[in-house]
Amino acid sequence: MAVPKRKTSPSKRNMRRSHHALKPMAFNECANCGELKRPHNLCSACGHYNGREIVSTEA
Ligand SMILES: [Zn+2]
Repeated sequence: MAVPKRKTSPSKRNMRRSHHALKPMAFNECANCGELKRPHNLCSACGHYNGREIVSTEA
């Protein structure tokens, strides 16, 4: 089995992890109801996407 020759130094380990930070979540206003929603996702408040109703929210 292939095994690393040297222990990864704290510097190299931290360089690898420099890309691991989480970015803040993106939000846009829904064009229909103005509620904040994630881009490219159905609006959770009114069920609209791309100008039309996909999921009915009335009971
Ligand atoms: Zn909406």
